[in-house]
Amino acid sequence: MRARVTTLLGLLVAVSAVSAQSVPTTLVIRGATVIAMTGAPPLSNATVVIRGDRIAAVGPSAVTPIPNGARLLDGTGRYLLPGLIEMHAHVSKARASSLGLFVANGVTTVRDMGGDHDELLGWRREIRAGRRIGPRLVIAGPYLESADNIARMRKDPVHERVEPFERLRIAVGSPDEARRIVRALAIKELDFLKIRTVQDMATYRAINDAAEEQGLKVVGHVSQFSPEAVLEAGQDGADHFFAPDTLNPSREQRLQLWRRFAERGVPNVPTLVTLRAALAPLDRLKAVVDDLHGRVEPRRRYLSRFMVQDWKEQVLETSSERQDLLRSLWDRVVRDTREMHEAGMEVLAGSDVAVLDVYPGWSLHDELGLFVDVLGMSPMEALERATRRPARFLGAADAIGTIERGKIADLLLLTHDPLNDIGNTRRIAGVVVAGVMHDRAALDRLLASVEVAPDRRRDNWGRYRSVPAPQR
Ligand SMILES: [Zn+2]
Repeated sequence: MRARVTTLLGLLVAVSAVSAQSVPTTLVIRGATVIAMTGAPPLSNATVVIRGDRIAAVGPSAVTPIPNGARLLDGTGRYLLPGLIEMHAHVSKARASSLGLFVANGVTTVRDMGGDHDELLGWRREIRAGRRIGPRLVIAGPYLESADNIARMRKDPVHERVEPFERLRIAVGSPDEARRIVRALAIKELDFLKIRTVQDMATYRAINDAAEEQGLKVVGHVSQFSPEAVLEAGQDGADHFFAPDTLNPSREQRLQLWRRFAERGVPNVPTLVTLRAALAPLDRLKAVVDDLHGRVEPRRRYLSRFMVQDWKEQVLETSSERQDLLRSLWDRVVRDTREMHEAGMEVLAGSDVAVLDVYPGWSLHDELGLFVDVLGMSPMEALERATRRPARFLGAADAIGTIERGKIADLLLLTHDPLNDIGNTRRIAGVVVAGVMHDRAALDRLLASVEVAPDRRRDNWGRYRSVPAPQR
């Protein structure tokens, strides 16, 4: 599946061509400790020269000249990282205002894992043209679902349908349908194919084979099939993945299995934060959706009207029985993810934004915290999984994921050392997106603008446009 990688890189190059003006501005960040994520040790008192949207130079301040006319930013005492990559979000559900939340939290690339494709393409064009502040979007298009699952959704009474599912889910009922749909999607500017539920094994194989022919990677849920079947079908990436309990193999057998995934380069995006969020006390989850003024949860002030509607539905689906089930799942998911990491399988950072009590932008920092606290990674290992390693999986290693000359200037400037404490990734002094600097004051203005964005007051996507606005 090589062809698509070139296409993705082509897209990233096209981004720079659009955003670089004819006379590129030069920005210099001087004096910061650069954590380049290349494997090199941190470089203290470094100078980073940014011309247009690209990194033009990185080196010790003593030997790195500052070009004439450059805008100088003092980075003394600060830490510079590559911008973070969120590997699992549903931006359609979080709505357009969430794009600002990603940037405000230092997330400069987002892989959308299922959404309203035409709308996402529109937002991506606006971001590229500089008309909207947002991260680089990598888009998996609509969800592929089993025909049975779509039929089940259609049976829900209209008043219970919060999500306009016809706009983001496609029914695939047979191998023939799989081939036809994959061919039709392949010409629609998408970067991956996302599967969620699959009709049967023959359809699953047909989706993977047709995607391979089109040079598209297949990613997403695989809970229906055994890990062996996933490997055999050639699926390229898995999310929320763990060993089914019916398998019940020994630890050594599990490690052997994950080694085969490692050899094939198939990563898992475990989205631990999603499962942990679902285990919060029911009272908290109910309070959060009713919390119009952000008293229970300050980040609630930035959520779109649609996402809150969707969260309300998710709260209704939660029960103490379901939580008991999830609690027993948590231990297995943690065990398996730790073993995947131990076996050399790629574990990447994503947070399934749009799930209840998971906050766009902030949640990636929560996930990195769990990589350290629960999976036992070092802060450096965790950071690699939100920078260099996902960049490689996205086929964009030449453009993003590290701080090196020639790469796109997507950067995160911190006030405290994230290698001492992973929680310090939240202490943000500035974010650079494609060479454009957003200092702390600009990020605060961005957050304030999200708080009053139109989709905060009005559900501008779902079925119920007539729902009255919340009291503000
Ligand atoms: Zn998801």
